[in-house]
Parts: sequence; C-alpha cells; structure tokens
Amino acid sequence: MSLKLVKKLHSGSPLSLGGLLFQLRRTMSSSTVKEFDYLVIGGGSGGIASARRAREFGVSVGLVEGKRLGGTCVNVGCVPKKVMYNCAMHADFIRDHADYGFDVTFNKFDFTKIKQSRDAYIRRLNGIYESNLNGSKVDLIRGFAKFCDSDGTIEVNGHKYRGRHTLIAVGGRPTIPDIPGAEYGIDSDGFFDLEDLPKKTVVVGAGYIAVELAGVLGNLGSETHLLIRKDKVLRTFDQTLSESLTDAIEKGPVHLHKKTQIKTVEKQKDGSLKLTLDNGETLEDVNTLIWAIGREPLTAELNLDLVGVKSDKEGNIVVDDFQQTSKDGILAVGDACGKYLLTPVAIAAGRRLAHRLFNGESENRLKYENIATVVFSHPPLGTVGLTEAEAVEKYGADHITIYQSKFNPMYHAVTEHKQPCVMKLVCAGDDEKVVGVHILGQGSDEILQGFAVAVSMGATKKQFDETVAIHPTSAEELVTMRGGVKPKI
Ligand SMILES: Cc1cc2nc3c(=O)[nH]c(=O)nc-3n(C[C@H](O)[C@H](O)[C@H](O)COP(=O)(O)OP(=O)(O)OC[C@H]3O[C@@H](n4cnc5c(N)ncnc54)[C@H](O)[C@@H]3O)c2cc1C
Repeated sequence: MSLKLVKKLHSGSPLSLGGLLFQLRRTMSSSTVKEFDYLVIGGGSGGIASARRAREFGVSVGLVEGKRLGGTCVNVGCVPKKVMYNCAMHADFIRDHADYGFDVTFNKFDFTKIKQSRDAYIRRLNGIYESNLNGSKVDLIRGFAKFCDSDGTIEVNGHKYRGRHTLIAVGGRPTIPDIPGAEYGIDSDGFFDLEDLPKKTVVVGAGYIAVELAGVLGNLGSETHLLIRKDKVLRTFDQTLSESLTDAIEKGPVHLHKKTQIKTVEKQKDGSLKLTLDNGETLEDVNTLIWAIGREPLTAELNLDLVGVKSDKEGNIVVDDFQQTSKDGILAVGDACGKYLLTPVAIAAGRRLAHRLFNGESENRLKYENIATVVFSHPPLGTVGLTEAEAVEKYGADHITIYQSKFNPMYHAVTEHKQPCVMKLVCAGDDEKVVGVHILGQGSDEILQGFAVAVSMGATKKQFDETVAIHPTSAEELVTMRGGVKPKI
C-alpha cells in the first residue's frame, strides 16, 4: 500500500498531505476500523443532504442513523406538523361555510383516521429516503455513534469507523422543564403519537412549535390552553407580527394565558392532570400537557471532549462560517449547532459543505442572512430579513423607513369570524432597500418565498412599486404601500 501511495504522489494525484497521512493511517489500521472519505453522523435533513451531495463528487460516504431516516423534519417535525395544519385548516373553512352560503351538516372529526393516513405517508417517506441513499451508494450504518478515540474514530454497536472528514448532524430534542410532575407531560414528539384528540390540552411555550401545535388542537376542537411566560408569542420576531398574532390567538379558539408558568403537575386518580400555576390558580381535568419550551442539541452522548470538539454551555457545537468545528476534519451542521433550527438551513449548509470539501469550492458556504421562515399559525405568518428593531440597530433609526398596512382580507369580507392581515416592509437608506418583509394573514405561508428572492437580490421599495400588482390578492399590498414612517422603536 505504501508503494501505491508513493506511486500516487509521483502520478501527480490531487491528494493533499492530509489525505496521504489519512491513507497511510487507513492502511495501518484497516483491519479494525472501516474508513470513509466522508462519515456522516445523523440521517436527518442536514446529514442526508450532505452525504448524497458528497457522493455526486465520487467520494466514499458512510452515514450513521440511530432511529428512522429523515430525522426530526420527516418523522416528528415539519412534515407531520404540516399534515395536521392542513387538517386544522379544514376546520377554519368549515367554520366559514355557512357565511359563503353552504348549508353543510358537520357530523364528526375522526382524529384516528388522519393519524393513520399521516403515519402511512411518513413510512412511505422513510422508505424513499432509504432507497435514495441506496441509489446514491451511501453506506447506511444503523445505530448510535459516539467518538471513541481522539483521532475522530467513532463506534457504532461495537464496530469502528473513521472519516477523512466527519460531519456531525445529530439534530436536537425537545426540552422538558425541571419541575415536580413534568414527566406527566409529553413533548412535540409525543404529540405525533396521540391516537385521539384530547378533550382538554395545555400547551406550554411561546415559540413557533407551541403556537402551531396549540393552533392545530384548538381549531380541531380540543379545549386548548396556551401558557406563555411573558405577554406575547414569538417574541424574537418583528414586534408587529408578534403583537398581531398574539391578538389573533386571543380572538380564536385557543385560551391564551399570559405571564403564566406551571409550578407543579399532579396526576389525579382518573388519570387527568392538575396543574398548579404560579399565579395560584389551577388548571384541572387536563388530558394532555405538551411542553414546547425549546429544543436542545443531541450532543451530550457523542463524547465531544474526547475528540476536542468545543460546544457552548447549552451543548450546541461551535462552528465557524464554514461549519468547521474546533477539531480539524470534524464539521457540524443543522440543529446541533443551535442556529436557525430549520430544515432548509440544515440542508443548504450540508450541501454547500459537500461542495467545499469534495469539489474544490473553497468559498462555498451558507450565509445565514435573509433566511425566510414561516409559522403555520392561524393565520399563518412569514418573515424574511431584519426586524424593525434589528434594522434600527444596524443602520440607525434615521436611515430606516417603515411601510405598514393592516386590513381585513377580502376572504373575510363576508365571514363572521375574521382573521387579520398585517404587512410590513423595513427599508434602509436613501434608496429604501427592502431589508425586511414581515407578513401575517391568510396565504402568507405561500406568499413569502417570492418576496424572499427579492430581498436576497437587494430590491428597493421603488422596484417593489414598479411591479404591477396582482388583483385582488392580499399580496398586492406589498407592492402598493405608501406613506413610509420613521421607526417608533
Ligand atoms: C414540531 C416541529 C416542527 C417543525 N417544523 C418545521 C418547519 O415547518 N419548517 C422547518 O424548516 N423546520 C421545522 N422544524 C425544524 C426541523 O425539523 C429541524 O430544523 C431539522 O430537522 C434539523 O435537521 P438536522 O439534520 O439538523 O437534524 P435532524 O433532522 O433532527 O436529524 C438528526 C438525526 O440524527 C440522528 N442522531 C442523533 N444522534 C445520533 C447519534 N449519536 N448517532 C446516530 N444518529 C444520531 C437522529 O436520530 C436524527 O435522525 C420543526 C421541528 C419540530 C420539532
């Protein structure tokens, strides 16, 4: 083998010195450790995307997955959540049927039916992910990985593997609070195991997962209580959206409890839960309690210290702009890094990384700016770019102009139940470059993507206005707004 290496050197092979040392080490230990050019830990959004893209460049790739392929998004995240959101949207429309002249009798809602269809869909996706990996000739290693040597060797079910480059893409899990009786609650994973619609549900949390799950349950007919620590949901979003959605939730079927925390949870004889709140009140006869207070990275069991990969105090892996950890040859993407916990972010970072490592694109990386995101609330909202507060901090209030519009969308012109529509443009500088678009209202989830393209291309308000409006839509408001004002922050 060493002769082969020498020959490779003389034949002008593009192998770097690091690559040669790796090959040499591979030769010396190949009897016990299986070697790959790229070893990926985690078969979720980021891991699968990066592994398959790397195979397109002809390198050998191994991927380790301890659970079902597809990770959080496919199994207990975006996908089953969106199915349930679509389901809850039917409830929204049924409510408005009579106002549109339909005399429809509503008999019942069968939660079990939609759960079975949803589970079958997810199983199909698991299969598709596996056949895609096979098709790409990625070696699938089943089991949980942990580092077992300071050189980056990992162990899975007693077998050892090493990568010339190793990617950590292990994602995260929901956080459960440390209070008496917390174990009687479930988390978002448990939500997808529910066989029936709970009669009475309490959801705890003010982030998007809490808002979405509460919206689904409340609209489907569970008596749903949403408990938030402060006075608004989605506090890190633009304040106009955060306030408008908080108002909309208060006018909808979900009971919003502001500035409320749970002190203890007790299980009653009949199996229901009694929650004692920090304001002295109790919530009784609760069938399901869902903790949706945040997520933490699945890094504790990886033995990161052994290999010299640094993490922050929450366990998020510290990476530079190129997804490089503190240890050469070990990289990390996705939720495990604790930044922008979104599937397309993990995928984009993973794919670009494969281009950089194996296709000579040394500057290819994901730039974490202008990442568009949507919350499937009732009504949905979408956001891209800087919030008003962030724009003021970055450019100074004098250089920011805000265009904003609140209106009743035409869909609700004839319905008794109304949901608001709010649209806001944050513009910077004399040329009014649009640096933030924030929208709430029916259709926002589908409207936003196109505007995200405009923002990432650096479009100005004038260019928005030169675009002929599509009438009658809510989206036309974004290209017709007038009367910009200075920030009130
Ligand atoms: C309820 C909910 C709704 C969501 N909705 C959306 C949405 O609408 N849009 C959106 O963009 N994002 C959404 N997300 C977030 C999205 O799911 C995540 O950002 C995304 O899945 C992160 O991808 P990842 O590759 O970093 O991790 P994951 O997809 O979580 O994949 C990590 C994988 O690694 C495996 N693993 C962990 N440790 C090991 C180990 N030691 N060895 C081997 N395998 C291991 C895990 O089993 C898992 O399969 C949602 C999340 C939740 C919880």
